Amino acid sequence: MKTMTCRQLGGPCDESHTEATADEVIKAQDRHLKSAVTSGDDSHGGARDAMKGRWRHPKQAMDWYTGVKRTFAELPEQ
Ligand SMILES: [Zn+2]
Repeated sequence: MKTMTCRQLGGPCDESHTEATADEVIKAQDRHLKSAVTSGDDSHGGARDAMKGRWRHPKQAMDWYTGVKRTFAELPEQ
């Protein structure tokens, strides 16, 4: 398992996600952004929009995804 924070994934806080794979971390961040926005946390709205909108920007999306995968790969196992 490895841990990445909301901030490392482009979000505004230090909430951490501990998962086995980078894809699971990204899913956890998706859930975190959704629940933060649903509970009225405006600070996560921009990150959520960027995450939702990234599919309209395949190049940036792939760069972001590759960056997350690389960061995850370099983290120490827990
Ligand atoms: Zn957050």
